Amino acid sequence: MVSRPPTFCPDCGTRLESTTFDDRERMRCSTCEAIVWHNPVPCAGVAVVDRSGPEPAVLCVERGVPPGVGEWTIPGGHVEIGEEPPEAAARELAEETDIVVDTDDLEILAASAMPPREGKHVVTVHYVADRADAEGVPAAGSDATDARFWTPSEFDASSETFRPVHEDRFREAAQFE
Ligand SMILES: [Zn+2]
Repeated sequence: MVSRPPTFCPDCGTRLESTTFDDRERMRCSTCEAIVWHNPVPCAGVAVVDRSGPEPAVLCVERGVPPGVGEWTIPGGHVEIGEEPPEAAARELAEETDIVVDTDDLEILAASAMPPREGKHVVTVHYVADRADAEGVPAAGSDATDARFWTPSEFDASSETFRPVHEDRFREAAQFE
């Protein structure tokens, strides 16, 4: 299985040919006589919501690595082998923001297929956690160059940009009861 559209067989290096299987176009290796599956990669993220002020604020990170350098996103990343999605979400949060949450305090906000970037498709499980259940002070780490709480109005008044699908989750998380 590969996460980007395959051109060559990952096992033997043969150039792949297109075939129709299960009513979908698939790529097949004629040497291995096998289809090379192209599937989305599972990701997990968590929006930590601070409800102590007049308007809920959501912990966001600014991306420091491609794709989308300078865009704001909800902290998250790939699920590792052997990891449950909530563990992945909590680990990515800690790596990117220094904020620690217990996986028992995560609630599911959404699970969705994200629009592909550079041919890479991901399916992300988005969680929400309450700031009151989280520990630490936000500090950017890993792939992030900044980590801070934004309210939707503060963000709208700024000149910053959000990654499009993450922006929907940001606004949904701020409304989440
Ligand atoms: Zn092959």
